[in-house]
Amino acid sequence: MNQTKQLIDKLEETSQLTKEEWIALIQGRNEDAAQYLFERARYWQHKYFGNGIYTRGLIEFTNYCKNDCYYCGIRRSNRQAERYRLTKEQIMECCFSGYKLGFRTFVLQGGEDGWFTQEKLVEIIRTIKEAYPDCALTLSLGERSRKSYEELFHAGADRYLLRHETADETHYQSLHPSELSAAHRKQCLKDLKEIGYQTGTGFMVGSPGQTPVHLAEDMLFIRRLEPHMVGIGPFVPHHETPFAQEAGGTVELTLFMIGLLRVMLPSLLIPATTALGTIDPLGREKGIQAGANVVMPNLSPTSVRKKYELYDNKICTGDEAAECRNCLNQRMKNIGYELVTDRGDYCRREKEEIYV
Ligand code: SAM
Repeated sequence: MNQTKQLIDKLEETSQLTKEEWIALIQGRNEDAAQYLFERARYWQHKYFGNGIYTRGLIEFTNYCKNDCYYCGIRRSNRQAERYRLTKEQIMECCFSGYKLGFRTFVLQGGEDGWFTQEKLVEIIRTIKEAYPDCALTLSLGERSRKSYEELFHAGADRYLLRHETADETHYQSLHPSELSAAHRKQCLKDLKEIGYQTGTGFMVGSPGQTPVHLAEDMLFIRRLEPHMVGIGPFVPHHETPFAQEAGGTVELTLFMIGLLRVMLPSLLIPATTALGTIDPLGREKGIQAGANVVMPNLSPTSVRKKYELYDNKICTGDEAAECRNCLNQRMKNIGYELVTDRGDYCRREKEEIYV
């Protein structure tokens, strides 16, 4: 057996590799190793989740952002972006239609927009949780103080998504302006976990300057953090950003990283991302077949969909929520999976359970 497969076996048995081993595994990958990895990933996916795929209804409620990340289409310097904010009533309408369609998790995602003060956010969270007590509420609002995270948690938020983007400080600095740091982002993630949120992190695959060494650091960081969710998707250039001319991430490497995540931490919630579906018409299906177990269809009103343009050619910007859900349902059925009506909470299962 070649070294790459041996490393996959070691990862499956011990859930950890050294930095050198991670680099060797990522650099040494080939088609044969990838197929071997995906088989192991599907073994754990089926063991823990059967053929059920969790859904999260994504509500992109503001595209105003005070940050200026070099890769992101809604960065503050993009003067071409048409800015919008949803009202509380519009957000509640999204939840209403989402609930009817079978969503039991709503994700409020937006740029870092100070217009939504702490009070406004608390009010929105309380209203959603009062109207839909059987649903989980996920926030994805970027970096905030620990006190703010605590208050939002006590208002009823259950989960928080904050990708670390890249674990390497120097690489992080090459993707962001100097006021942002990997250290602060990691501190936020630590705070979120300590507070009690089901916490999601993640990174872009193929972001400019990324090497296998950075990816190895990402995997080591995730192993240490032990998050509940990890969202990874390819970097896709946006024409109005400093990275407009950079190459995007590949489907091949994104799928390989999804497989590695599933084998390392088999209980993880891993979405097959919209970015993956954007660079390959069957990207989300392939993500599921590589070990992902979550999809996040869009519940935002169609009138604002195109405006939340993080990267070029983002898919599903013209479809109604119901169309998105039905389309994904069919796509999942085509590959032997099905969307489930369930909150889809994280549940830690010990790998050893299988030996009992
Ligand atoms: N403001 C919040 C935050 O910082 O976490 C949430 C919104 S932010 C736009 C959501 C995610 O979009 C980021 O974590 C980033 O990984 C992803 N993203 C932004 N620009 C992207 C691009 N050009 N290609 C792929 N993903 C991108």
